[in-house]
Amino acid sequence: MSRSKIQNLQSPKGMHDILPQEQMWWDKVRKEVDYIADYYNFSRIDTAILERAEIFEKSLGETTDIVEKQMFVFKSRSGDRLALRPEGTASIVRSYVQHGLSHLGQPLKLFYIGPMFRKEQPQSGRFRQFHQAGFEIIGGDDDPVYDAQLILAIYRLLERFKIKNLSLHINSIGCRNCRPVYRKKLLDYYRDLAPKLCKDCRRRMKQNPLRLLDCKNEQCQQYKASTPMILDSLCSNCNKHFKGVLEFLEELKLSYQLDHHLVRGLDYYNRTAFEFFTDSVAEDGTKFDFALAGGGRYDYLLELFGSRQSSGVGGAVGMERVIEVMRKTKINLGLRSRQKVFFIHIGDVAKKKSLSLIEELRDAGIPVLESLGKDSLAAQLRSANKENADYALIFGQKEAFEDSIIVRDLKNGVQETVPLRKVVNEVKKRFK
Ligand code: AMP
Repeated sequence: MSRSKIQNLQSPKGMHDILPQEQMWWDKVRKEVDYIADYYNFSRIDTAILERAEIFEKSLGETTDIVEKQMFVFKSRSGDRLALRPEGTASIVRSYVQHGLSHLGQPLKLFYIGPMFRKEQPQSGRFRQFHQAGFEIIGGDDDPVYDAQLILAIYRLLERFKIKNLSLHINSIGCRNCRPVYRKKLLDYYRDLAPKLCKDCRRRMKQNPLRLLDCKNEQCQQYKASTPMILDSLCSNCNKHFKGVLEFLEELKLSYQLDHHLVRGLDYYNRTAFEFFTDSVAEDGTKFDFALAGGGRYDYLLELFGSRQSSGVGGAVGMERVIEVMRKTKINLGLRSRQKVFFIHIGDVAKKKSLSLIEELRDAGIPVLESLGKDSLAAQLRSANKENADYALIFGQKEAFEDSIIVRDLKNGVQETVPLRKVVNEVKKRFK
């Protein structure tokens, strides 16, 4: 049967493969996330990548960009409306309530690493499939110490990536009592300006006025500069909470910038909202004009899912973005490349014994490279060269009969025949 070949080999728009040669960056990020999680006692949780769409629609809010424009939603064959998760928090709270995790010691500190999906216009640092490492402190009460602990964990993580010139932007977006007061002030301010605003902002005025502060459109910037400040409208409880968070940060000597325009756009947030940026500049002079991490408090989310607990705070780091900064600012991963040994066989008798011999070497702690499927010496040497091997172990007809092997230093060509029973020691002796 003849089949037509697949012509289009492109991965879907905004979705990328992570190739073997890029994995060292990802390993580094995962390793540091594990380190910080362990250090601050966060337990790992993995939730499904698909959720019922309603989980996000009801919690993030119907009028948010993510739900309105960016979520990948589809109907399964059995008719369920499913969504590829656009973020981690809603799924984690769903899981927390579903599995009764509120019965465990509170607050529960959880972390996750995994892919998220948003149908955005791809550009630098913005993809349709991207990865987040996120941290959540759920349950307990709404003590500002948890907000500070969460921010601290993310700050320390970014520090471990050796990203310099970090800046923490922070704001409070109040609660159900004080936010409507601010919303009204904001709308009063914008009312006469409406005709001059971009289309999105005119829509935001009707649906989600706080998002006016989020607008990146050039024509709206001049009006944003003198908007009323939400901090002036906070009720006394929110004010006290925010002061508490800032005091903890000051005690930690963690500097911050109050950012009156930081609202983080999702319905489930209340009080603290924060984002981390870097002022580092890439080697080619470009600046990174995106947030590396962001998060906030989400007390109403727990209530929405019917939890007995009523407080939560969390944040997520964008893995592609931190990797981009690390690569473009030439951060040294400090990896020591380990020395490589390449096994070469010559002739059928030697080949027959090779697989088990290599197994013995590996069992003895020598990670051996090989290309056993190739029989010609020249081809095997070429493979050793491609792998940039330091030593070759050459096992030929004569050696197979004599139970010996040649250890050849590929950098200087010096070689020595050694008995097989001594080869492990001989190789280890040569490793620096
Ligand atoms: P958010 O909650 O949307 O602020 O996301 C938290 C972090 O995830 C951001 O600070 C980014 O580092 C990262 N992030 C969000 N959206 C994207 C995207 N489309 N592509 C790459 N990274 C993203």
